[in-house]
Amino acid sequence: MEKKLTELKSKFIKLRCEKCKNEQVIFNKISSIVKCLVCDETLAEPTGGKAKINAQVLEVLE
Ligand SMILES: [Zn+2]
Repeated sequence: MEKKLTELKSKFIKLRCEKCKNEQVIFNKISSIVKCLVCDETLAEPTGGKAKINAQVLEVLE
């Protein structure tokens, strides 16, 4: 059941901010930095189409 992020295509990912524990759903293909809506911590950065995740991945939503 466990999937590596590198195998993901276009999906939504539920993340938990490691700083404030806020849960946030993001798209795994982003074109700009995604920040935590609560504490402004960077949660994901775009790297050639795929997001580099800087938070805890809770769930991948198909
Ligand atoms: Zn946060």
